[in-house]
Amino acid sequence: MGSVTDGGDGREAAMWADAHNHLQDPRLRGHLASGGGYPCIVNATHEEDWEDVLAITAEEPVRRAALGIHPWYADEARTGWDERLGLALEANPSAGIGECGLDSKAGSVALEKQMPVFTRQLRLARELDRSVTIHLTGAWGALLDALDREPPPRRWLMHSFNGSPEIAERLAAMGACFSISGRAMHPSGEKIFRSFRAIPAERILVETDAPNQPPPALNVGRELPDGLNAPENLALIGEAVAGRLGFDPACFARITMRNFACFAGVHGGREQLRAKDEMMDSR
Ligand SMILES: [Zn+2]
Repeated sequence: MGSVTDGGDGREAAMWADAHNHLQDPRLRGHLASGGGYPCIVNATHEEDWEDVLAITAEEPVRRAALGIHPWYADEARTGWDERLGLALEANPSAGIGECGLDSKAGSVALEKQMPVFTRQLRLARELDRSVTIHLTGAWGALLDALDREPPPRRWLMHSFNGSPEIAERLAAMGACFSISGRAMHPSGEKIFRSFRAIPAERILVETDAPNQPPPALNVGRELPDGLNAPENLALIGEAVAGRLGFDPACFARITMRNFACFAGVHGGREQLRAKDEMMDSR
């Protein structure tokens, strides 16, 4: 269930891929449908949840793990975290790095504390040729400085991208991918579409960020308690975003699936993939 858009009228069902979620989040416990599900990248936020991310991705072959330290937890990183991250990545060849980044609105953690944790993860991603997923709020100048000093790896994603069209063009020229979340469908998300129209189609992915960033009620396919965002909302989010960007939904699903496969490193990121089966075989 939940892995395809219902093609009840006989059309080929569209397959979506979730570029970013947190299925290991304790708030989703007991709410995850067993079996099936979308291809996705499950992102850690701090060292204490790496094991949970690895366990939940091991349950379903279409789930990929990303291990890392989120900027909100940068000041809690224990000595030797980077060495342990390197070891965990070497033990899990299909895992990427995430979620890391910079957040000038986090409040509790100073940017000076976040920066070395972020740049260390960029370097590890480059050294190990892993994908990296970046959370960025507010600190665009600091991001450009960081990328200048510590170039990103081949595959890097600005998750739930919310920068200006100018920033989008600049980062796209540096090789970035960008994912759009259900947040864009709220009235306050309108300006995000201007930025996404400036991004080449082959760099756009779709995400839920579940259980965070619930879309408006219109785009909720499965309701969870406390207004949490269910991973099953992906197809409705993808279809709504496709409409706003002027794509046919099935075509947008194929494009974003292919982009997801490249970003996730399926077939080494070189070949392009269409079917879920191919992804399963590649593990
Ligand atoms: Zn996230």
